[in-house]
Amino acid sequence: MAGAGDKKLVRSKSGLRMVCVNERFRSPFELEEPPWIPDNECLECMECHVRFDLMKRRHHCRRCGKCFCNVCCGNSIALPRMAFVDPVRVCGTCVPVTRKENEFFDKHIKVLMNGAHFLVSDDSIDENENETFLCKLTQDHRHISFEGGENAKHPPIQLDQITAVQIITSADETQGHIVGKGLTLKHKQQGQMTQSKLMVSESHNRKQSMTWLASMQKAMKMIHEARGDSES
Ligand SMILES: [Zn+2]
Ligand SMILES: [Zn+2]
Repeated sequence: MAGAGDKKLVRSKSGLRMVCVNERFRSPFELEEPPWIPDNECLECMECHVRFDLMKRRHHCRRCGKCFCNVCCGNSIALPRMAFVDPVRVCGTCVPVTRKENEFFDKHIKVLMNGAHFLVSDDSIDENENETFLCKLTQDHRHISFEGGENAKHPPIQLDQITAVQIITSADETQGHIVGKGLTLKHKQQGQMTQSKLMVSESHNRKQSMTWLASMQKAMKMIHEARGDSES
């Protein structure tokens, strides 16, 4: 039987993709391939309106599935968000979006997986024994794990069970601007709605925790988008 993290190589008309054997275990950041606009519904480039013929061939953007000429869809870039193995053809509108997503995959996922220290409080921990944990995104991108608690343990939080994220801020007197202090996560744990508070721990690397918070905010945006939620 296939394990949770097992991946397989599949060939779609857009290219080779490396996807989870079991859909249930796929990364919450991953997007489905868009449906391609059928050739017979598209007689001209959707950007510059040049008509397609034997010389002017149509090309589909792998990010949005729309139909373009070679000039308007000439960029070939990596699209890890759809799990493509090789760079694929992307239209002019989708290039900046894809670059941003790639930055998330190159940079922010690594920040989240390296983890940072937070003072954690919620229903699963006794009110007066708030513990500091090393909070990390797991290898499969599906959970936040809590490591290194001295007196308490904390169950992992499943990312796709998070319904709301709020950054806790306060005015920094010395620097005169608003700084992030932590975040609250509303999520379902064993069928129950619960709220977890992760506060930046002053006794650990503060900068690392702040960076982690910023990356987490980006992560939640990506997840909302992948779910097709309109709220952000
Ligand atoms: Zn064109
Ligand atoms: Zn596109």
